[in-house]
Order: sequence, then structure tokens, then C-alpha cells
Amino acid sequence: RSLPDLQAVVSEIAAEMKARPDRGKVADYIPDLARADASAFGMAVITGDGEVALGGDAETPFSIQSISKVFTLTLALGMAGDRLWNRVGREPSGSAFNSIVQLESERGIPRNPFINAGAIAVTDLILSGHQPREALGEILRFMQFLADDGSIKIDKAVAASEKRTGFRNVALANYMKSFGIIENPVENTLGVYFHHCAIAMSCRQLAMAGRFLAHSGINPATGHRVIQAQRARRINAVMLTCGHYDGSGEFAYRVGLPGKSGVGGGILAVIPGTASIAVWSPGLDDSGNSHLGRIALEALTRRLGASIFGD
Ligand code: GLN
Repeated sequence: RSLPDLQAVVSEIAAEMKARPDRGKVADYIPDLARADASAFGMAVITGDGEVALGGDAETPFSIQSISKVFTLTLALGMAGDRLWNRVGREPSGSAFNSIVQLESERGIPRNPFINAGAIAVTDLILSGHQPREALGEILRFMQFLADDGSIKIDKAVAASEKRTGFRNVALANYMKSFGIIENPVENTLGVYFHHCAIAMSCRQLAMAGRFLAHSGINPATGHRVIQAQRARRINAVMLTCGHYDGSGEFAYRVGLPGKSGVGGGILAVIPGTASIAVWSPGLDDSGNSHLGRIALEALTRRLGASIFGD
């Protein structure tokens, strides 16, 4: 399916978002994230036939944070297959991204791979049998490969900042370890987790990396299969139901696309069969999702008639 006037629509939305006074609140519980420029807005849409539409600050790198969890899930499914689902569920949590409450009643098994507890369990699975440095290298190289861009880096200052202040994640990891869900030393698992959350990418790079999810597991530029079609479909399903934490229902209602947010203000979304999209605006709403990012995606799907639920 083609998207007529795509660049015009993206430029229009970027200009509208730049002009809005309501910007949400930049995350500061990880001190280094508070350095982000609240007035930034970027958007990139990449279609299956290679059209690239960029708007606003689409080339500025930002901290991808929880968006990395889509890619660690993809890698972990490749390594462990469906065994992964013994360690982590796939139901929406209806709770905050860093919530600990459900772990007690569910024997330490996190509700889904996108809340912090679930993503830490997925990272632990990738780490098993490897040195932390190797596991992290594997994750970073996977991102570079998918985005076809060897310049993508980890922002070490952001990782160190989260390591100093990530007490809640330390608690989640230790709590899961008490149930045997975490196999490796907690500090190793968290070291890898903090660093993959601190990968810095632009909207363009992120939209490039997400192409395989929009195209049944295949990179449309090369024809190379990244994962099985069924797996891509299922990752998209988990993004739709769990990708925005307790804001997932609202995101599906307003935007109508599978999407994954991060507290750096980024969102990766896909129009299945058509396009991969990344937006970035650092100000967050009460659920920790990008405020203008969601509004911009809502405008995009409305103007393109691209919601998966119909036009
Ligand atoms: N690294 C962040 C954390 O663990 C990721 C959270 C997010 O992006 N929602 O708190």
C-alpha cells in the first residue's frame, strides 16, 4: 500500500507539534535524561518501497530507553524460541512501567516483556552463557545491522546515571532472582539492561531498525529475513497490548498501531505491511509515554487513514 503526500503530511505534523505549548514533562528520575531539550520534536516514516519522510529533529539522537526492549525481545526469541514465555508473560499489566506489585502474586514472573521487570528477565536470558560485554555487543550490533548504520552508539553517561539511581530496577531484579527467574548475578544483568536502554538513536535510525516489524520479519531494502513472519506478527501484538504500559489502551484507541515508547520520549510504531515510524518529543504524560509523540502519531494515522482498525 502506498502513502500519497507522505512527506507533506510529516512536515505539516512536525510544524504543528513544534508550535504547541503543551509538551509534557521530561523524565528526571534518571538524572542524565533531564538534559533533553523539551522543545525538540522529530518524526521519521519509512515505507516498504524505501521512501523516507523526515520532519523536525528527525536526525537528532536521543536515548531510546524502553524502545530497546522490542529488539532485546526479538533477539531473545531468536535464541530461546518460545521457551522465553516460561519466564515472562504476554498480558498487559495495567500498571506503571516500573511496578513491582504483580510479581508477588505471579511467582516472580513478569506480566510482559515490556515492563521493566519483564525486560530485565529478557536481558538475563540473552546474557546467560555469555560475558556481559559480549551480550551488550550483540545487542548493539543487532541495532546497527537492522538500521544499516554502524555509527549507532551507547550513551555511557546515561547508562552510568541510571546505574547510580536505578534502585527500583535493582529491587525488581533481586525480587525476581529470589524466585529463580534471574540466572545471572543481578549486577551483570542490570549492567547490560542499563546499557541497552542507553543506546542513542535518531528517529530516522529507529524507523530504519523497525522496518522488519512492518514487513513480516523481512528487511524490505535487502529482502533479508530477520525473523519468521509469525514472530513479527506476535511482537506487534505485544507492542499493541503492552507497549505503552498502563497507557496502552489509550494509545490503541487514539493511534491504532502497534507501538513501543521509552522514557527518553521516543515511540517506535508500525503500519503493518506499509511503514515503520519513529517519533520523538522528550516531554512525557502521566504514564511515562511521550505526550506529543502520541498526539503526532494520532494525527498521522488519521490523515493517512492508517489505523489497523480501519480508515
Ligand atoms: N531504563 C528505564 C528504566 O528502567 C526504561 C524505562 C522506560 O523507558 N519506560 O527505568
